[in-house]
Amino acid sequence: MTNKSVAIVTGANRGLGLETSRQLARLGHHVLMTSRNEVDGQAAQQMLLNEGLDVSYHPLDVRSEASVLAVVQHFRQHHKRLQILVNNAGIFPDPSPEDSESSVFNAEIENILNGFDTNTLGPLRLCQALIPLMDGEGCVVNVSSGMGQLSEMGGCCPSYRLSKTALNALTRIFSEELKQTQIKINSICPGWVRTDMGGKEATLSIPEGVEGIIWAATLADDGPSGGFFRFGKPIEW
Ligand code: NAP
Repeated sequence: MTNKSVAIVTGANRGLGLETSRQLARLGHHVLMTSRNEVDGQAAQQMLLNEGLDVSYHPLDVRSEASVLAVVQHFRQHHKRLQILVNNAGIFPDPSPEDSESSVFNAEIENILNGFDTNTLGPLRLCQALIPLMDGEGCVVNVSSGMGQLSEMGGCCPSYRLSKTALNALTRIFSEELKQTQIKINSICPGWVRTDMGGKEATLSIPEGVEGIIWAATLADDGPSGGFFRFGKPIEW
């Protein structure tokens, strides 16, 4: 049982989730890294352990309630209070934006449902199960995207866009219901980042993309809640 401040990160086996885990651990948090792919997740954990960081690992498929429950049970056995939840795991279920198949006219309902299940309902399941472990104080980060902004909504990629717009709504709903607590919940857009999802042409390195996530995960007591941010600055919904 550890007394250290604990952070849970989803999709921690690669990309923004792995770097978020690294940087939160460097800041002194114990990080419970989680991932759907157990082999990759354990390899990622080992990499951070080799760097001298205080991390542990548990498998988690954010689409599965049983899997979320197993993380809750693991947490209760090993830790006291959750300080930070980073809902990072996500998929891009549409064809590439350059592909004419990514038009809304060709949208496959199955892709829309898959995007919603992982990108929106995943964070919902985790917030429902894990926010009670915060004892009224902590930070939740929903890793969203500018592609979910209604103010700048473009064509293409409807499965991804819809799932992130809905995730932003979830942020607002939870923030309203958490108003009487010291729990802050925000959506962030990391920018366009060179990960498996963002691709090689993206403008930001992974450490640059993680900056805004770390900012929202480590807010001061008087920090914002119920907002949408990029690099720590508010952006329109
Ligand atoms: P990535 O490298 O593709 O990583 C996505 C992560 O999500 C992987 O660890 C993946 O695990 C995990 N994941 C997918 N489905 C899952 C599930 N059902 N349960 C648990 N984990 C699951 O992409 P990334 O760029 O780091 O993306 C991280 C977040 O940033 C996503 O929410 C994405 O929408 C958001 N974002 C990224 C960009 C960008 O430019 N990169 C821009 C805006 C927003 P597996 O290995 O098991 O697939």
